[in-house]
Amino acid sequence: MTQSHDVIIIGAGLSGLAVAHFLGKTKPGLDLLIVEQGQRAGGAVRSCHDQGYLAEWGPHGFLDNNPASRELLADFGLDRLARKAPLANFVRYLCHQGRLVVLPQKPRKLLATPLVSLPGKLRVLGDLFRKPLAGEPTIGAWVSYRFGAGLLPLADAAVTGTFAGDYERLSIDAVMPGVRRLEKEHGSVLRGLIHTMRQKKKTGPAALRALPAMTSFSGGMEQLTETLAAGKPIRFGTKVTSFRREQTGWRVECDTSEPLTSRILIVALPVNAALALLAPFAPPVAAIPEARIATVALGFDAATAQIPYGFGYLAPEREQRFALGALFSTHMFPGRAPQGQVLLEALVGGRRHPERLNLDDATLVERVYADLRQLLHLPTPPGYSRVLRSGGGIPQLEVGHLRLRQWRDALQTAQPGLHICGFGWEGIGMNDMMQAAQAAAMTVTAGESGAKEAAVRPVYF
Ligand SMILES: Cc1cc2nc3c(=O)[nH]c(=O)nc-3n(C[C@H](O)[C@H](O)[C@H](O)COP(=O)(O)OP(=O)(O)OC[C@H]3O[C@@H](n4cnc5c(N)ncnc54)[C@H](O)[C@@H]3O)c2cc1C
Repeated sequence: MTQSHDVIIIGAGLSGLAVAHFLGKTKPGLDLLIVEQGQRAGGAVRSCHDQGYLAEWGPHGFLDNNPASRELLADFGLDRLARKAPLANFVRYLCHQGRLVVLPQKPRKLLATPLVSLPGKLRVLGDLFRKPLAGEPTIGAWVSYRFGAGLLPLADAAVTGTFAGDYERLSIDAVMPGVRRLEKEHGSVLRGLIHTMRQKKKTGPAALRALPAMTSFSGGMEQLTETLAAGKPIRFGTKVTSFRREQTGWRVECDTSEPLTSRILIVALPVNAALALLAPFAPPVAAIPEARIATVALGFDAATAQIPYGFGYLAPEREQRFALGALFSTHMFPGRAPQGQVLLEALVGGRRHPERLNLDDATLVERVYADLRQLLHLPTPPGYSRVLRSGGGIPQLEVGHLRLRQWRDALQTAQPGLHICGFGWEGIGMNDMMQAAQAAAMTVTAGESGAKEAAVRPVYF
């Protein structure tokens, strides 16, 4: 027996759950089914409650300045339950010549930072006089061209903190389309930023003009996806193995059930999982690179550990550290450790060092502690440790990604009723997922193109 639905959504991660919510809101009464291969909803979003500590396998938070995310949270009353760590109150650090230095939060603070030499700071102004760079350069090539090599460690930190990626491979056009647009429209990023700031002052709502806050929940990030999943029609333990067009819509083959059919099919999966299903449509690549990371959660005695106040630190590659960086979790979100303890979550691996993930848990803990104690005052070894290895990797939007996205857009146009969003298509952050999910839902309901403005996307760590 073939079961029919108006809409089938493949994947019950944040993307699939968010599309389902926005669709239900804009077009109530649609008969919708989410098909999920695993036994839980949330995908990469997964929190670990252990011995009084709360750590994360996947995302640790997202900024509260995205309209789609704000709407989603408000719809569930989660805006009132959110735990926030405002950027204005916290600093972030960069590992620079073996010690932690405060990262400038605002462009004008660049002037005073010891992270960039005086000639390096003067070279930043070169942006005002340089023509837009042609083609699809890497972030590294683009930053060097516009602002000079002096800013590369900052660019490295930004993409390490978001993509766990390599700025010599990531595409500036795919990762920062808004900044690239400023460059092209205003002939200079600095001029474009000044223009945008002036416009925002005139028109933007005050809440969106202030520095945003990192957002999580008392139950960890999973509280968001569990709330979204509650009451939704999800078929767990069912992997979609293929789909094809039929006269009236889509026929979806699954590993553990009879085929399903629907008028509308939404593929809300990480790029590589989607590409596996889209192979019959001849995508330009079979897969894109991913960066895997492990979180090494360490609990220390608060009486002896001295951790500077802030979100955490990032280490550019040239510093040759073992950990990519660490989050000062109990500073950001107090209550994530038992009384008298502090929690640090270090990140290991990434695009450049996947081999480190082959180390066993004990070695990872040992190496991370040895690394951290050179940067922070941690005289006694951690009393608590846990290694959290994320199941999936972070898709890398490397050079060539624009072509893949264009192919996806053309496919959606050629195949009415097929919608593709999820981890790594428009971006990789949770805000990107919620925004793309809202756009997909709007396209389904309104039959519009779904084209949207490229926003100047801030980093989330
Ligand atoms: C280690 C790590 C750290 C991160 N840190 C941050 C952060 O701090 N801030 C931030 O904003 N973002 C962060 N992210 C990104 C964030 O987690 C993602 O944006 C988001 O979770 C992606 O959601 P998704 O639903 O698109 O994909 P996923 O979460 O991967 O969900 C996809 C779902 O589809 C299911 N599925 C796959 N194939 C099939 C199939 N064939 N049939 C049926 N079901 C299938 C999977 O089981 C999964 O449940 C991080 C990601 C990782 C991995």
